[in-house]
Amino acid sequence: TAPAKNKPKWLRVKLPTGKKYTELRGLVNKYDLHTICTSGSCPNMGECWAEGTATFMILGNICTRSCGFCGVKTGRPETIDWEEPEKVARSIKLMNIKHAVITSVDRDDLKDMGSIIWAETVKAVRRMNPTTTMETLIPDFQGIERHIDRIVEVSPEVVSHNMETVRRLTREVRIQAKYDRSLQVLKYLKDQGINRTKSGIMLGLGEKEEEVIETLHDLKENNVDIVTIGQYLQPSKKHLPVKQFITPDQFKKYEDIGKELGFRHVESGALVRSSYKAHKHIE
Ligand code: SF4
Ligand code: SF4
Repeated sequence: TAPAKNKPKWLRVKLPTGKKYTELRGLVNKYDLHTICTSGSCPNMGECWAEGTATFMILGNICTRSCGFCGVKTGRPETIDWEEPEKVARSIKLMNIKHAVITSVDRDDLKDMGSIIWAETVKAVRRMNPTTTMETLIPDFQGIERHIDRIVEVSPEVVSHNMETVRRLTREVRIQAKYDRSLQVLKYLKDQGINRTKSGIMLGLGEKEEEVIETLHDLKENNVDIVTIGQYLQPSKKHLPVKQFITPDQFKKYEDIGKELGFRHVESGALVRSSYKAHKHIE
């Protein structure tokens, strides 16, 4: 199919406003805090920040992988900043974040794949913000259990790992990842006792309805608790084109199917990002 053209009206959002938003925006600028919300210009900033949720990225801004949908730069990553866990913890305190989502670039260049900084970050956030809950949106760590175990040991309230797309498109969408390996990571997390596991997919990359339903079944079979389904938007002309804008009715249909399958939470809608309404997923 040819790439879809004009953005439909349900994807147009108003610029965020509100006291809380303005206040946080000021802090982020003043202290040079790194949130995905601002760097990815997420459309949900007004809403999330008003609810005390924000997403932080650790382990630098350069990724060793090159997923076709992702706006993060690929290349030789920065050296590890051992102060980073403290910095993130301090940002969360300054911003008075109630529920923090933490994610990272992939660090296939490191022996521990970044899992030590990951664990230290969760510990530092907890130390400095004892009432803040956390979701860690982790890489696949190439499926290596001793790395994943470091996350399990610090047991964040929610651990997520995104499938991003259906089985058939995985090669095209995230070349260095594997559909079954990601499922295996999710299963392993649950088997190790993580209370809530979560995964997300983007639509509009050329997937068919039955393929989306197949992915929902696969997630359920691997005991995933929470699923997010959103519209893919192209970060730049160099990225994969948007093949289709999914209608609100179709998103609703997937939500209903997901609920019927018995997931604890299903967020499905054009503007849903994997961290959207994340604070609700600890309920
Ligand atoms: Fe930030 Fe995620 Fe909310 Fe967007 S959806 S504003 S990235 S927390
Ligand atoms: Fe982007 Fe993550 Fe893929 Fe890296 S691994 S390119 S950060 S989606």
